[in-house]
Amino acid sequence: MSRVYHVQAVVMRRRNLAETDKIVTLFTRERGKLSAVAKGARRPQSRIAGATEPPTFVRAFMAVGQNLDLVTQCEVKEAFPHLRTDYDRLTYCNYLLELADTLLEERLPQPELFDLLLSALYLLNGGADPLPLVTAFSLQAAEDAGFGPSLDERVRCHEPISRGLGGYSVGLGGALCRVCRPSVKDAIRFPVSALDTAKQLLELDLPAVAKLTWPEREVRGLLRILRRHTEYRTEKKLKSAEFLEALQLKEKSATDTADEV
Ligand SMILES: [Zn+2]
Repeated sequence: MSRVYHVQAVVMRRRNLAETDKIVTLFTRERGKLSAVAKGARRPQSRIAGATEPPTFVRAFMAVGQNLDLVTQCEVKEAFPHLRTDYDRLTYCNYLLELADTLLEERLPQPELFDLLLSALYLLNGGADPLPLVTAFSLQAAEDAGFGPSLDERVRCHEPISRGLGGYSVGLGGALCRVCRPSVKDAIRFPVSALDTAKQLLELDLPAVAKLTWPEREVRGLLRILRRHTEYRTEKKLKSAEFLEALQLKEKSATDTADEV
């Protein structure tokens, strides 16, 4: 087997190692998620200093190491400058990266999820409305991972969808009708109309999602539910979600004020 290889990758995380090195977590299209050492990458004059910072899309040249592989060269394909300078976009970006990280297994190629993440990063950097984009990503990524929420029927009584206020149970993994909701302990109140929104966000590709206008309150509610759903299914906490929800409270109070005017 060859000792060197190259990959397309999104730099998802980095931490310091020794005096001048970094350990980077890469989501590679060809080999899935892997950690690698970038030697000397914290020296200001290093040619891979910038390319090994998240969130960068790179072509990385790698060498097989004893424990971790080494990044020997790294060519920036897209640096996503707006995701570094705009705090709100950065918050959504961090959530996307952490979510992808949570869903990935080490060294298991998941090219569809890679393409989905890359598309989301390009659209987010290009000025798309972050909320529907990140919500669509969350739904599609959960579906890809095999634990998408049940949107077609009430998980408790299996009655077909109708209008009104229902609920959602993270434990049962799907929607509840008005009658069942009070008897399910973890039920979250949830408008049934949001299920149609969720279905569209699941089925459309991300560039199409970015072109449309979405009902903001419903989408905000969906994203909150998807966060809990994913945390429950993966048994991992999404740390960046707290920053995201704080940001959404700020956005919500801004839109509520606008509604009153
Ligand atoms: Zn029911």
